[in-house]
Amino acid sequence: MAPPRTYRAEALTLKTAPFGEADLLVTLFAREEGKLRAVAKGARRPTGKLVGHLEPLTFTRLSLNRGRNLDVVSQAQTLDNFTPLKSNLTALSKGLYVAELVDGFGSEASPNEPLLRLALDTLAALGRAPEDDLPLLYFQLHLLAVSGLLPELHCCVECRRPLEPGRHRYSAAGGGVFCPDCAAAPAVNGAPDGAGYSSGYGTGTGIGTRPLSLRALKVLRLLASRRRPADLPDLTLDEPLALELKAILTATVQYWLDREIRSNAFLNHLSRTGGGGAVSRSE
Ligand SMILES: [Zn+2]
Repeated sequence: MAPPRTYRAEALTLKTAPFGEADLLVTLFAREEGKLRAVAKGARRPTGKLVGHLEPLTFTRLSLNRGRNLDVVSQAQTLDNFTPLKSNLTALSKGLYVAELVDGFGSEASPNEPLLRLALDTLAALGRAPEDDLPLLYFQLHLLAVSGLLPELHCCVECRRPLEPGRHRYSAAGGGVFCPDCAAAPAVNGAPDGAGYSSGYGTGTGIGTRPLSLRALKVLRLLASRRRPADLPDLTLDEPLALELKAILTATVQYWLDREIRSNAFLNHLSRTGGGGAVSRSE
């Protein structure tokens, strides 16, 4: 039986782009559909009934009609506009980064309710505390968790022994923390704690590691143990610690995002070419 022509969805708008004369191409992350691209007809006309409901970082209930290529939004009702987030520039820019990562990690036709929940909770937390570093760090770590990519934080990824306090190292490509015995490889760029991490992986062993302070490890474990950003304790990070955590999590997210984008590009290429033929990519 053919699927119904019209369906309803609850979705967060990740981004929009002009489409045709007055339409909007909307990238959504929907509860039951995963990532979804749809057309909102007339949404760029000031009088259009969809205006305002589909701007980025808005959570809406939608009615959609299935199209041959792209589905078409016929109705939209705003469920949460995240007004506090949008009225603060710092919070807004962090929110757009959240949307960019959901877009990067989310897949089409692949629902991920925990990822949607995480994004919505994080946007609310950012609206409550725009300057707080914890909500975005929480988001980055749990984005990895709901994608099945959470770094190992309790055992050495090499020897599997439980980590004792010591001079640990961390590697995104290696999947987490190395104990002092296994972390003999030198730092990639001689990078000190909290700086200069993003410029490359690849020691002699093929996975760049960087020093990981004990207090950063403790905060990572604390973030991983909480169910929602609202459960985070009232904890202020000093600047070196905040920088170290940002460097570690941003590099880890970027590492997986690059792989994800490459594999998506490869899959898209295969689907366009029907799976045959040589793949040529310029990198
Ligand atoms: Zn080890």
